[in-house]
Amino acid sequence: MSTTVSLVDELEQLERNAQAELGTLNDEAALEEWRVRVLGRKGTLATLLGGLGRLAADERPAAGQAANRVKTVLESAFGERQAQLRAAGRTQQLEAERIDVTLPARGYRRGQEHPITRIRREVEDVFKRLSFSVVEGPEVEWDHYNFTLLNIPPDHPARDIQDTFYVAGSDAEGPGGSRGVVLRTHTSPVQIRTMLAQRPPIRVIVPGKVYRNEATDASHEAMFTQVEGLCVDEHTTMGDLRGSLTFMIRSLFGQEREVRFRCGYFPFVEPGAEFDMSCHVCGGNGCRTCKQTGWIEIGGCGMVHPKVLEAVEIDPARYTGWAFGFGFERMALLKYGVDDIRLFYTNDLRFLKQFR
Ligand SMILES: [Zn+2]
Repeated sequence: MSTTVSLVDELEQLERNAQAELGTLNDEAALEEWRVRVLGRKGTLATLLGGLGRLAADERPAAGQAANRVKTVLESAFGERQAQLRAAGRTQQLEAERIDVTLPARGYRRGQEHPITRIRREVEDVFKRLSFSVVEGPEVEWDHYNFTLLNIPPDHPARDIQDTFYVAGSDAEGPGGSRGVVLRTHTSPVQIRTMLAQRPPIRVIVPGKVYRNEATDASHEAMFTQVEGLCVDEHTTMGDLRGSLTFMIRSLFGQEREVRFRCGYFPFVEPGAEFDMSCHVCGGNGCRTCKQTGWIEIGGCGMVHPKVLEAVEIDPARYTGWAFGFGFERMALLKYGVDDIRLFYTNDLRFLKQFR
């Protein structure tokens, strides 16, 4: 009898002590140590249970019952304490990761347009006011559209002026049974595409990248950005061309600028001209920028060659057209006083940030 009492007493004592101790444990490692020591295979409870076998048969049930009850109580106390500690841990973590949503946001750096993009937009805006639309086309182009339909057949010497990059391995048959694919040397093929797709009146400007097989220096790049304009209508004349170019030059470089035409040769216009503006630096008196001539060369222009109109099935007896083209880089060099075209494409932020 006394053995049973003492075993039950020991179990109850274990229950009290172990529970009290559990309440003082504050981390998972200590908790685990407690579990192994009290509830483990070789723990205190298991040792006490080992004593059951030595009891007399009639004493065993009461002691076994007490042992089971203590085991259940301690296991559930352990589970509770573990849950408490984990919840506290999460709260602590949340506290550590707290974000102050009332802090002002970090400022962001505002970018700006590339100087070439800016000039492009300015030129587009000027011609939109003259009711021109902006159209674009492919930079990889059929030889047929880039040269042949522009009155530059395969054996024409003018192909030498626009030495270009042929796309290797592209001998698929193109429009008109032609062969050959090039990086376009001018945006003129987009004029051809436009005239093939729509009937006069046509008023478009065509901005975009073009390519020439060219050694690069301060004023030449193998890739540059061109804009061309095309107007095809009944009774439109070289006077309209000159008026439109003057309007553009004055919008960009000031109302005092004059425009002059000099004879120039381009296979796709007749007559053709180079157009200059009076120097915006010296006002026409002569300076370094205009090489003491008072004039600055801007681009080429002329009346669309009747053969070009015929090639796109527009009747040259009824319609006339004029066209012009120039490079945005050259415009930007002049307007911003930059002295090396290559600076536009080296992506040096110290350079680009000056155009705010
Ligand atoms: Zn000058």
